[in-house]
Amino acid sequence: MLRNLFYTGGTLDRAAELRRDPGWLAERLRDPTSRVVPVWRDRNLFRSGDEPVPAFLDGDRARAALDGPAERVFLGLDGDVAYFAVDQSAEEEPPAFDGASLLDLRQAGPFLDQSSGSLLAFARGILYWHRSCRFCGACGAPTESVAGGHIRKCTGGSCGREHFPRTDAAVIMLVQKPGPDGGSALLAHQSKWMVGMWSVLAGFVEPGESLEEAVAREVLEETGIAVADVRYRGSQPWPFPASLMVGFRATATTFDVRFDCGELDDCRWYTRAEVRAFRDNPRLPRPDSIARRLIAEWLAEE
Ligand SMILES: [Zn+2]
Repeated sequence: MLRNLFYTGGTLDRAAELRRDPGWLAERLRDPTSRVVPVWRDRNLFRSGDEPVPAFLDGDRARAALDGPAERVFLGLDGDVAYFAVDQSAEEEPPAFDGASLLDLRQAGPFLDQSSGSLLAFARGILYWHRSCRFCGACGAPTESVAGGHIRKCTGGSCGREHFPRTDAAVIMLVQKPGPDGGSALLAHQSKWMVGMWSVLAGFVEPGESLEEAVAREVLEETGIAVADVRYRGSQPWPFPASLMVGFRATATTFDVRFDCGELDDCRWYTRAEVRAFRDNPRLPRPDSIARRLIAEWLAEE
């Protein structure tokens, strides 16, 4: 199984039972020890330095962020200290201060410890959901944040529907072909990817199918390859903007690749020796991605 994936391994106690206690939440919002994880237009705040370290707001800066009109979400507790995510996107200027700057988490993620990466992914992902769920999908009335920011409730009188934070499940899979020298793996390239990057296949899960069925359907649709023996390998939050990547291995039962009717620019079988020779072009996916880990796991098996 794939362990210690980036953006997993959070150490915050999410304290879900306390989210619905308005009195307790109000105390934490006033508490001078509470800390703020700021997010500005999907970017997180970091202390400048050789390697990025998350910058939180505390003291007066935290007060100012928590007292304002910005969307805020109770993330959880580190011991007795409450952490809130605050969306400062409405500010014209980013909330940077001396020694801190904003970065896309995808730039900084590979350099962060797991707990920090998980916390920033949580803050970014849930605030993105708030921005995209401001109106009720059922009746169109505005929604309001309740339960510490973990539910948006419709304000339409006769509706009142509760909306929960949305995560889109996507399957991502390394398809292998048995053969001499350990066989080969099916890798693809899309034009919207980094130049020269080859990766495993992925796609969103559709209503009415299991994860394993989604794997088989996506591989067949995109490459014409039929698969069997679909095995779960691990999962990774991927709040870019709102996915959960669910990783699998599968074994091909047909081998002729066809990719002319889908999203792929190119797709082919690679041996381990060929993948080990990758440098810049062709190159492997980002080091923080489950795609990279699925390929690394396969490479290590010879
Ligand atoms: Zn409604």
